[in-house]
Amino acid sequence: MHIAAIRMGLTVFCQPRKETASLGRLTGTSGKRATAQIILSRNASLLRKENLFAFPHGSFALLLIVRWNLRRRVVVLGGGFSGLQAAIGLERLLPREDDILLVSEQNFLLFTPLLPQIASSKINPRHIVQTIRDIRGKRRFAFRRDTVVSIDLTARRVISASGIIDYDVLVIALGSRSEYFGISGARENTWDFKTLEDAVVLRDHVLDMCEHADHTTEEAARRDLLRFVVVGGGYTGVELITELSDFFSQYVAREYRGIRPGDVQLIVLEATPDILCGISPRLKAHALRRLKARGIEVRTSAKVTLCGEDFVEINSGEIIRSATIVWTAGVRVKALVENLPGPHDRVGRAVVSSALQLEGHPEVFVTGDSAAAATAPGAPLVAPVAIAQGGIAARNVAHFLRGEALESYTYKNQGMLVSLGMDYAVVSIGRLQFSGYFAWLFWNAVHLYKLVGLKKQLQVAMDWMLGTVFPRDASILRRPTRCKICEGAVGRGFQAQAGR
Ligand SMILES: Cc1cc2nc3c(=O)[nH]c(=O)nc-3n(C[C@H](O)[C@H](O)[C@H](O)COP(=O)(O)OP(=O)(O)OC[C@H]3O[C@@H](n4cnc5c(N)ncnc54)[C@H](O)[C@@H]3O)c2cc1C
Repeated sequence: MHIAAIRMGLTVFCQPRKETASLGRLTGTSGKRATAQIILSRNASLLRKENLFAFPHGSFALLLIVRWNLRRRVVVLGGGFSGLQAAIGLERLLPREDDILLVSEQNFLLFTPLLPQIASSKINPRHIVQTIRDIRGKRRFAFRRDTVVSIDLTARRVISASGIIDYDVLVIALGSRSEYFGISGARENTWDFKTLEDAVVLRDHVLDMCEHADHTTEEAARRDLLRFVVVGGGYTGVELITELSDFFSQYVAREYRGIRPGDVQLIVLEATPDILCGISPRLKAHALRRLKARGIEVRTSAKVTLCGEDFVEINSGEIIRSATIVWTAGVRVKALVENLPGPHDRVGRAVVSSALQLEGHPEVFVTGDSAAAATAPGAPLVAPVAIAQGGIAARNVAHFLRGEALESYTYKNQGMLVSLGMDYAVVSIGRLQFSGYFAWLFWNAVHLYKLVGLKKQLQVAMDWMLGTVFPRDASILRRPTRCKICEGAVGRGFQAQAGR
């Protein structure tokens, strides 16, 4: 028998000789002696050796534990890369009596690096998400799909859309959102590109533009419909525009007979003098050459100053007409994180200690896109950083509850991989810098490997393989939103019916 427990406020544990007790932080026999412990507080600092009574070697130990609200609750907010990593780590490190609860708005983990391929109909949207319950498998941590509305740090509780969640220790990993820098009309008139839904909606809109353009006989109107502008020359913007370029050359050019290749115009607008900030000048030059060769217009030092329903203004002068302006230009943390006390950096990330603890609240850890660690204030908002911080946060929560010294987070640059559409990518990992077809194969292999779950890996690999033989699946999945042409047509249709 390992443990027999009667839980009635007073708990009795029977421990057979020499069996290693695994009562987590309550410690146990090390094969030589058994220990018992009286705990009179939920305060972890009392769980020290002084509170333990040693039983002689070889005895049958009877462990009496007075349980007074012993069960501690660790709550993790956000089921993205960082939060999930933290929950999985906590599961391994905390004793079974402790509650671990993961709260997230979505019931899935989204593999963001493949989002551009959703917008270009290359892969099925379902194939880049994995439900948290599937990832959890047989692990014991609890999951709650819920939206966090506010955090009361003083009362140690989280207020969610469906109730109140008390915590003893909190891990905040709520990710980020788009930043519009106060540019007039940007939020209302551009297509956001952060979530799975954003990518699916954008995909349907792009297809809708092609459908309308196909039967629009007036050339100028057709060109306006087929002018696609991506604001932001970072990794996401560049990957998105090259994916769209593949889509037009491989699919639209073949299937839409009313559209000529010259009708499509793809433009990237970047406010700074450079795109793909962070990669070497040599690789950047390769990337630029590649984009130009594909007919993508890259406009640097082009600061967006105004956005309208079907135009974008740059540098307070030039107007570009477009029915599709996608915003990938900036990130900002969620308002919940911005409202946390203590210092914040330029994008609103909570500036936390090297152990990822919030200033003045050692029981609160902040990770991923939400955090700027004191030891790595310039760490980029990318998945490897989020995953590493999630792991450190889990270990530090365990250390914190045991009253041990905490670990520091240090940033390790894991390199950059940027896909530039079919058959071409640039790879920069330390001294390893290359571009071209092998870089593209490497990009594919790494992303396939990083996808969570064999099923998803196979599904994406199949999408890629089938895409080389069969045409893309370009069915519009939902009624296109914000389509002025459809809205007009629907209005006219109703009027006609009413007049009959
Ligand atoms: C289009 C795109 C492409 C990207 N490409 C790459 C790439 O190629 N390589 C790379 O390394 N990084 C990439 N990134 C960045 C990477 O996705 C992030 O750095 C990473 O996801 C951050 O992890 P996180 O856990 O901090 O946040 P997230 O993964 O964003 O997770 C946040 C979680 O919090 C939940 N949440 C948010 N608000 C609430 C709330 N109020 N209540 C409850 N739950 C909430 C969300 O549902 C989500 O599950 C990309 C990002 C985007 C948007």
